[in-house]
Amino acid sequence: MSLDLDIPSRFDRDLRKELHHKLLARGSALATLLGDVLADKDRLAAIAAIGVEPRPGIRPEELLRDALNQVERRRRLLDAGDDRYGRCDVCGVELSRTELEQLPWADRCQAHPR
Ligand SMILES: [Zn+2]
Repeated sequence: MSLDLDIPSRFDRDLRKELHHKLLARGSALATLLGDVLADKDRLAAIAAIGVEPRPGIRPEELLRDALNQVERRRRLLDAGDDRYGRCDVCGVELSRTELEQLPWADRCQAHPR
């Protein structure tokens, strides 16, 4: 989980630190919700509040697992200085700094929604 800021990256150190911490916080919030849902607690409102979109036929625990996997994949790319971080998985376009600050786990551009 540690972040090595000496690994080369196209992002500056402060931004990498900020994105890394936001990704950890998001992962932690999702994991907590997933634990609650698996314990049969109703967390539909909380899941919506955290910005996880419902999908027809997909159970809340699957939505949360998908969201958690996405966050972890993005954090690993960021921490490794992998150039795929901050780009659309489909077309490779760079996401804007504003987009990344708001949604550091974003892996699609607006032309390629999930
Ligand atoms: Zn794209």
